[in-house]
Amino acid sequence: MRVNLSLFKYFVDLVIPLRCMKCGTILGDKEGLCPTCWPHIPFISKPFCACCGLPFEFDIDEDALCGPCSYEQPLYTTARSVFAYTEGSRDLILKFKHMDALSSVPLFAHWMARSIGDRDGALCLPVPLHWTRLFMRTYNQAALLARDISRLKGWEYAPSLLLRKRRTPSQGYLSRKERLKNVERAFAVSKKKKDYIVGKHIILVDDVFTTGATLNACSKVLLKAGAESVHVLTLGRVVRGRQIV
Ligand SMILES: [Zn+2]
Ligand SMILES: [Zn+2]
Repeated sequence: MRVNLSLFKYFVDLVIPLRCMKCGTILGDKEGLCPTCWPHIPFISKPFCACCGLPFEFDIDEDALCGPCSYEQPLYTTARSVFAYTEGSRDLILKFKHMDALSSVPLFAHWMARSIGDRDGALCLPVPLHWTRLFMRTYNQAALLARDISRLKGWEYAPSLLLRKRRTPSQGYLSRKERLKNVERAFAVSKKKKDYIVGKHIILVDDVFTTGATLNACSKVLLKAGAESVHVLTLGRVVRGRQIV
């Protein structure tokens, strides 16, 4: 039986009206944010660091790097995020992480797809969760985003290429170098799919860019397995000075 999807959506919208993703106000027929919440979301736009995407507060050359990237360039070629993780955007991220991921995915994926250029033949994959956490949460939000972004961009979705071998244990007592090693050992490329990765551009998707250590560790493993480049794409980004965590 063929289901008329637009008719189905019309009836769903009648029963469950679209609400602002942040405050819950009922919106008309448009999904997303209400006019009150919209200005509080600190969307990231140029100028920003050519590598890690850290926003600059002054105008500068497009290829300029931020301090940390000039000191030691990350292994990913670029990292781009939709908005800074601040008091204003916090609810969106928390709801997405803990309550309402499924209904937010299409719009978030759309925003993320717009934040990154086209790259023919790329493989798009999420930062994996350890199976014990996946078991608790039932789904990996990053994987939901990566799947929708792949569809929007025409990229191949490769959710099981990168594996999380173990949970990252508490690292408080370790030095920075030891912490990085620890994160690095948590990831591996699937042995069955090793050949598949050689020469490919990888789009690595996560919900929030915090310190970048996990994303850098994933990049290292992917590049070591033969990937041509890794481009990171996240929804939120902690920006020092504006961060709340
Ligand atoms: Zn609102
Ligand atoms: Zn940077």
